[in-house]
Amino acid sequence: MQTTERTSGSSRCDQCGADIAELLCSYCGTPGRLVEGPGAQLRAVRELQHYMRVGSTQSQIRLLTLGYVPAAPQVLVEAAMACLPLIRDAEVDDVSAAAVRRLETLVLRLRLVPAGPEVVRALALLEARLGSYHRADRNLGILAAVVVVVGLILVMLGVVAWLHSR
Ligand SMILES: [Zn+2]
Repeated sequence: MQTTERTSGSSRCDQCGADIAELLCSYCGTPGRLVEGPGAQLRAVRELQHYMRVGSTQSQIRLLTLGYVPAAPQVLVEAAMACLPLIRDAEVDDVSAAAVRRLETLVLRLRLVPAGPEVVRALALLEARLGSYHRADRNLGILAAVVVVVGLILVMLGVVAWLHSR
């Protein structure tokens, strides 16, 4: 474990060339070194969450899209749970869409790793959340179609009324 302050150990990101101070690139969320073991993976996931909290909307979207994806089941669960507060059903929003895509990636990985009962429970919850998001998305589409059709009918009725009033 490194406890002293590192002064010369900074490296550059393979993806974007930015300086990497800790485990991950603060610009795109790519690991600067091999992240091994659940402990290091958890630190990397929390570092990513930190960069998302302090960054702009654009930075949040970039980190959600390109950011580090862990391998250990319990760390995958933590990373997936962190996506949930960013997902909004009621509006079309790029952060929300990027959070859904990241959650889908994490859930896909979770399905492939052998996991204990609490991870299985968490996976069921996450899949249910994705399901309700996609249903809300579809309902919003149906609602938009209904509004357009009703609008057209009102316009036609208006035209008919106007023609009769002449
Ligand atoms: Zn980078």
